[in-house]
Amino acid sequence: MRGLCSRRKSLIKTRIIIVGGGFGGVQCARILSRALPQTRAEILLFNSENHLVFSPLLAEVAGSSINPLDVVVPLRQLLPAVFCRTEEVENIDFERNQVTFEADDGETGKMDYSHLVLACGNITNLNVVPGMADHALPLKTVGDAAALRSHLMEQMERAEVCGDAERRKSYLTFIIVGGGFSGAEAAGEINDLVRSSARYFRNFRREDVNVILIHSRDQLLPEISANLREFARKEMEKAGVKIVLNARVSLATPEGVGLQSGQFIKGSTIVCTVGNSATSLVQHLAAPQEKGRLLTDPDMRVRGSPNVWAIGDCALIVNALDGQPSPTTGQFAERQGKQCAENILRVLESKPTKPFCFKQLGELCSIGGHSAVADLFGLHLSGFIAWFIWRGVYLFKLPTFSRQLQVGFDWAWLLLFPRDLAHLRTRTTDRVSHAHYQPGDFIINQGEPSTNFYVIEQGEVEMTRATGKDPHGEVMAILGPGSFFGERALLNNEPRVASVRARTAVEVLVLGKNVFTQISSALAPLRDALAQTLNRRAVDVWKDRPQAHELLEHTLIKELMEPVPKPVLKPEATLQEVAHAFVENGQEFFYVSGDGRTLEGVITIAHLIRGRSAGVNLSTPASEFMTRNPVALASDDSCAAAAATIREYRLKSLPIVESKETRKLVGCLRVRRLMGYVFKHIGKDSDK
Ligand SMILES: Cc1cc2nc3c(=O)[nH]c(=O)nc-3n(C[C@H](O)[C@H](O)[C@H](O)COP(=O)(O)OP(=O)(O)OC[C@H]3O[C@@H](n4cnc5c(N)ncnc54)[C@H](O)[C@@H]3O)c2cc1C
Repeated sequence: MRGLCSRRKSLIKTRIIIVGGGFGGVQCARILSRALPQTRAEILLFNSENHLVFSPLLAEVAGSSINPLDVVVPLRQLLPAVFCRTEEVENIDFERNQVTFEADDGETGKMDYSHLVLACGNITNLNVVPGMADHALPLKTVGDAAALRSHLMEQMERAEVCGDAERRKSYLTFIIVGGGFSGAEAAGEINDLVRSSARYFRNFRREDVNVILIHSRDQLLPEISANLREFARKEMEKAGVKIVLNARVSLATPEGVGLQSGQFIKGSTIVCTVGNSATSLVQHLAAPQEKGRLLTDPDMRVRGSPNVWAIGDCALIVNALDGQPSPTTGQFAERQGKQCAENILRVLESKPTKPFCFKQLGELCSIGGHSAVADLFGLHLSGFIAWFIWRGVYLFKLPTFSRQLQVGFDWAWLLLFPRDLAHLRTRTTDRVSHAHYQPGDFIINQGEPSTNFYVIEQGEVEMTRATGKDPHGEVMAILGPGSFFGERALLNNEPRVASVRARTAVEVLVLGKNVFTQISSALAPLRDALAQTLNRRAVDVWKDRPQAHELLEHTLIKELMEPVPKPVLKPEATLQEVAHAFVENGQEFFYVSGDGRTLEGVITIAHLIRGRSAGVNLSTPASEFMTRNPVALASDDSCAAAAATIREYRLKSLPIVESKETRKLVGCLRVRRLMGYVFKHIGKDSDK
């Protein structure tokens, strides 16, 4: 612990540490700092940012209704008597009453507490749905809102210059996943922004805009009362938002989202507002939790820890009024902050604490288009009046008169004049990311400009090239895990010469142009691999043999395939047993399968030689030196696809499976059989 901290500790009796400067933490700090003189207690507030974010207004930032700075309030101006530290708390030792944080010099700082209040909210976890982290935009922080605003502008600009009606439709389709506060607010704002801006564009009209709100339950806004929910739904539908209820999203791709029912909703913008999970601090705490929320006693103390309190979204607090867990809303977080501070004051005065008990003052939710729904003191309000009250509440919460004036002026301006459509291209440095594609999705389209290089992590893709004869594209190669594509257009600085489409669900590693250029010029082995692949893929082997190509295109693999070579080895077979199988059976390769049917790997003599030199010993199982998940074709694929794949991987044979989904082994296709077939038939034809 630092010198300053220990000197202060000797002078001050009580230190109250609050972790999190959101609605709950700020309210708690405010009440405590007003009630306790600085000579009696030191109040510290740790927050990752130096400001409070008014999250209910984030959707309006995304919708360009207000400026990003209007939704944040600097904590030190809001809480002048509190020691605000812009630092992240990393760990808590309940035994020692100590928090650990990363100090300004990168070292670990430690600080003791008399009371600790956990008010660190929750985080968005996009990994709950496959593909969501790669293809959806979240809405949790000011940064997310600004990035979403920028994305919306980009989509409108793309739609304006796009000549293809189908693609334009996709640019103008906005899918919002989750019908809680943030989802409903985001859908309303996006709808309003894009429709009202259509008049400034020539290539689309407001009717061309599609905003789709997908919710897993039978009603939107579970946090508010039933009649207000219904009202919000009707208002939003009237404004043009399509609401899909009782639908659960099961995957996301660059083309849209798939639902559990099997339906696929197309659209190139996905905003995800579901998937809240505990912050990493809460996840690692040795305290009782349920669904990522800390379990508390009725007075908000973390169960089993008499001087640790939890409030807001990170806590599961039962409301004594109705015996129900409190909802995760700003209003509840704020009230819990107030009552928690009062309970800490009671403990300091050795008085009994009170359970958390709160009757909501009312409910407010903005739904876009300068409209909101409100249930205040039994009055049901909607539309502009409700929205005006909603804004008034926020203005009232701002810390100083000067800030209230500044924000009030900004809002009045935007009420009178249209939304700002300026699109600041906040281009970030290239990065390495991952992407998920569903079978049939195009990862690259022939003719489009080159931007990325891809490495396949899982699944298979097919590379096709459209020709005058075959506009759908002849299959040039089937690529599997470990293979890459997209190199040629980047290296030659030319448009894409082929399309690449997912054959199965595919996970790819995506390298931006600059990252690719830097790595490929610095790393000699990659440079060599790229040069070899480039040469191989550049040669059109069928150019002088069009008849052979046509023949193979019209011949299915099942017509030429041979039975699966026996025996099929188990993944646990040792190197010694594998070597024995080669000697006994005189085969050039064996397939590996745990259940004897599903293709898991392939072993050739080369594996044995490589394995021995790489230090693999005689008892090493096959699973450790085989080629895992080798590329395989289905028996009803064409022999032309097989020939291209054999060439791409320089193979002597290809495993053939029943289908790419099951990967059940049904045979193998050898190069010599393929060549024999071509010579026989082409020869026959030319004899005629
Ligand atoms: C887009 C959106 C719209 C919403 N609309 C509404 C609405 O209309 N009405 C409503 O009532 N509610 C709404 N909510 C919900 C409301 O914002 C939350 O319920 C409320 O913010 C919870 O307050 P909190 O204090 O628990 O946490 P938060 O406000 O999330 O604050 C937690 C703070 O803790 C910080 N933190 C986290 N971990 C650490 C750490 N280890 N060290 C230091 N600091 C840390 C975070 O950076 C954050 O600043 C909305 C939420 C969103 C995202």
